[in-house]
Amino acid sequence: MFPCLSPRGDGDESDHSETMTKQCAARGCTEGTTGYSTLCDNHKHIQRRHGHPEQGGITVHRLRPYLKRVEARRAKNKDSDAWSILEARWSALEAHAQGILAEWASGKAMVSAQVQAAQQLQALSGSVPPSTIVNTALAMFLMRDAEPRRFASDRAFDFQLVRRVRGLAPVNAGSYWNHKAQRTTKVYRDLPPRVAELLGRQLREAFGLAGFMLAEKERAEEAKAQDQQRRLAEALEALA
Ligand SMILES: [Zn+2]
Repeated sequence: MFPCLSPRGDGDESDHSETMTKQCAARGCTEGTTGYSTLCDNHKHIQRRHGHPEQGGITVHRLRPYLKRVEARRAKNKDSDAWSILEARWSALEAHAQGILAEWASGKAMVSAQVQAAQQLQALSGSVPPSTIVNTALAMFLMRDAEPRRFASDRAFDFQLVRRVRGLAPVNAGSYWNHKAQRTTKVYRDLPPRVAELLGRQLREAFGLAGFMLAEKERAEEAKAQDQQRRLAEALEALA
């Protein structure tokens, strides 16, 4: 069901054979590297956390204007099927995660990243309304469309998408109720990169196309408003 993860490195899998200290490959960084890495320790850490050594974290504050646009769009189109379809997509992700956790609980050998990704989804599903998750994911796609330079790579975008969606859960989804074991199970706070990649892909596949189309709509409306403004200015100038 899951395609293989691409073997993109965490900065410590470069093929440089020299072990002498070199300058960190991150733009503007003058620190030295250690071992076989092309990155200094700080940028290695950033790469693990954000999916790219030059990616900064997208904060709730930065995302807010885009979230407001999504909420406004929803308010204007309350009866649209789009919202229920998108929420159903989230439910499908939840169900998929439940299935994985059930298989895992039954003792089946599983890929650890899959189990961890499922735990994250489970933790979210118990604590955040689907509409909030959908809005946040769509807002991220609007942001990427409007500010492409904020994202150092597609992978870095996926990591930020995961970060903002996870951030919706109280205490960052620190645990979830394990039904099978009848106890609360802790989940990883700092996501291993493979888990972030997997979650990012799942969210992108669920909401990416809708996000892209919504961004196009936003852009078209903005262009139309600017055109009207320009025509008004021209008409006013032409007044006798
Ligand atoms: Zn560095």
